[in-house]
Amino acid sequence: MAPTTAGPRVLLKRMREIMVERISPQARLDKIVSLIAANMVAEVCSIYLVKQGGWLELFATEGLNKTAVHKTRLKMGEGIVGDVAKNGRPLNLSDAPAHPNFSYRPETGEDPYQSMLGVPILRGSRAVGVLAVQNATHRNYGEEEVEALQTIAMVLAEMVVSGSLVELGEIDAGPKRDRPWRGQGVVFCEGIAMGRAILHEPRVKVEKLIADDIGAERLRLDKAISDLREAVDAMLATEDTVITGETRDVLEAYRMFAHDRGWLAKLREAVTSGLTAEAAVERVQNDTRARMARLSDPIIKDRLHDLDDLANRLLRHLTGKADTAAHDTLPADVVLFARTMGPAELLDYDRSKIRGLVLEEGSPTSHVAIVARALDIPVVGRIENVLEQIEQNDWVIADGDTAEIHIRPAHDVREAYRHKLALRAQRQATFAAMRTQPSITKDGEHIRLMMNAGLLADLPHLEETGAEGIGLFRTELQFMISSAMPRLQDLIALYSAVLDGAAGKPVVFRTLDLGGDKVLPYARPMPEENPAMGWRAIRMTLDRPALLRYQIRALLRAAAGRDVDIMFPMVAEVAEFRAARALVDRELERLAHMKAQPPRKVRVGTMLEVPALAFQLPSLLTTADFISVGSNDLMQFFFASDRGNPRLGTRYDLLSPPMLNFLKGIVEAAKARGVPVTLCGEMAGRPLEAMALIGLGFRSLSMAPASIGPVKQMLLALNTGEVSSFMDSLPERHEHSLREQLKLLAINERVPI
Ligand code: PEP
Ligand code: MG
Repeated sequence: MAPTTAGPRVLLKRMREIMVERISPQARLDKIVSLIAANMVAEVCSIYLVKQGGWLELFATEGLNKTAVHKTRLKMGEGIVGDVAKNGRPLNLSDAPAHPNFSYRPETGEDPYQSMLGVPILRGSRAVGVLAVQNATHRNYGEEEVEALQTIAMVLAEMVVSGSLVELGEIDAGPKRDRPWRGQGVVFCEGIAMGRAILHEPRVKVEKLIADDIGAERLRLDKAISDLREAVDAMLATEDTVITGETRDVLEAYRMFAHDRGWLAKLREAVTSGLTAEAAVERVQNDTRARMARLSDPIIKDRLHDLDDLANRLLRHLTGKADTAAHDTLPADVVLFARTMGPAELLDYDRSKIRGLVLEEGSPTSHVAIVARALDIPVVGRIENVLEQIEQNDWVIADGDTAEIHIRPAHDVREAYRHKLALRAQRQATFAAMRTQPSITKDGEHIRLMMNAGLLADLPHLEETGAEGIGLFRTELQFMISSAMPRLQDLIALYSAVLDGAAGKPVVFRTLDLGGDKVLPYARPMPEENPAMGWRAIRMTLDRPALLRYQIRALLRAAAGRDVDIMFPMVAEVAEFRAARALVDRELERLAHMKAQPPRKVRVGTMLEVPALAFQLPSLLTTADFISVGSNDLMQFFFASDRGNPRLGTRYDLLSPPMLNFLKGIVEAAKARGVPVTLCGEMAGRPLEAMALIGLGFRSLSMAPASIGPVKQMLLALNTGEVSSFMDSLPERHEHSLREQLKLLAINERVPI
């Protein structure tokens, strides 16, 4: 009963011949079904295709009543055919009428047929139809037959979507990728990007499906697999590729799959059944995608996604285009599209052409987002299935303000965004013009505006924004985007380059704030119940003083002959600060002992981001040279409200009486003892919040570079007296938030917020 193994090969050859015959599409379909029936030794062979509107319609049959063609219709999920289409997987039944989903259609005359094998005709993860064979006996179709029918279905899929079997308007052939599409994601990095879509990992279009020489295709497949394995091993082993935690996980998964026998056997079987190596990869890939679409478990889905990516890589090895798009000739305005991306991969592109980045996955704290922020590239992430919608070179808009993405936008949407971009450019020009203007309020108070940074790529923003210095340099970022622990010499070189770039403006280096979500790719992650309140920052570095000393050593060496400010993160008690400060003293002694040139001046300060430290101010202020309020963490611990939880994002307000009162106490205590105080959390960069902070008495604020312009514009129009008298009433207030009152005050005073 079983067909010979040569079956599908001969059949595919015959199909190719039928394709070039000068006959009508329906006649072609009819010939194909009788050919398959004969080849599969089946009494029935039918093709159902998905029509516009989602119905499955019988398009051709050998063995069933011809009068049922274009009459018999099933809903997605209805009957065995509907089940195969909906779930995108074959059903192999020796007793089809006994199947719970069996749906009897008298007009087809299918009563005598007991066994049935149906396979989906897949395009990506979606079925565009079903190919079914039936027999009168209770027959069990063998593995090889299922395989053969799937191979035939794949070739059919190509014929269907190329329009050679049916009029394309008649059927639903999957995502069209030719009409406007809008997606909603999450903002990873603000800003608006407009340009041409470039797929970071270009898709390979499989042109030739049927093999001329199966032996040669087998060899090509084996060679590509071994090249792929080598490439993955090399990526994992290389010293200079920056591989972060996430990327490493994905690469490890690639390596596992590249050696997975099941996957490789499926690929080889598909070649043996008569497909080219490329078509075999795509055929197996279609199964993976169909499985992915059925699953809801995010972890398994993730792994299948990895497998899908690996198949793409294999396709690129087969076609000799193994690289990402970074070294292709790119258009002038590029919006990159990727599932995920490592920071080094982004750095590989010509920065002058990249306007934006769109990711299917990732998180705002991912390393690529950090690098994109430093490079001022808008990023929108977590847009489900965006890669299915996009075609290389499509016109796109990525809106990193609203987290929207528009693919092939209509003319009016494009015009609206052109307008929005022009307005932005105008605002940027206004801010740039204010760059050299002193940041002094209307009543003559100087407010020191500093910027936050973390990478060398941030340094040019000092000049562009006119910031007075770097109020917070987050040193952990460099450690996080490196593939291995940076060497002392590298750290010295980096910190010196930062001081060189700052050209005499002050820089406050914050020592490593690791732990929580900031995990080093080369360190074993330690699962903790509450990582934000766990073994992180100064707690970790005081327990591992060698690491902290190593970093302090690099800072002191880099600052030879210059000023340097060192600050510790997450200090909860004065004793911790003193212990950390003692390490600076020891390193200074070491430097003296080695007769190396010391810095001109070292100031040692602390972040104030744990509420407990605010209750030790009298003692802290006698020993710290400066303090910097980290409102991001302070807020989360003050209200016991996770800073990363979107459900709590707006639940409590920084501009609430208790929080503002608390900040007021801190700034007043520091001023009373003449200790400089800055605020370097995100709130400093929002004009309304910055106005409130100035009202509380803050005269130094450190913020993201892009915020300096808007904050300066606000303070140039501000009378500090008005807002500070408003703040005098804080102790008596009991509202949830003072935001609206502060806005009103700003409007009345014509302060742009
Ligand atoms: C803060 O907590 O406010 C802060 C500036 O530090 P980070 O955001 O790096 O935790
Ligand atoms: Mg913090």
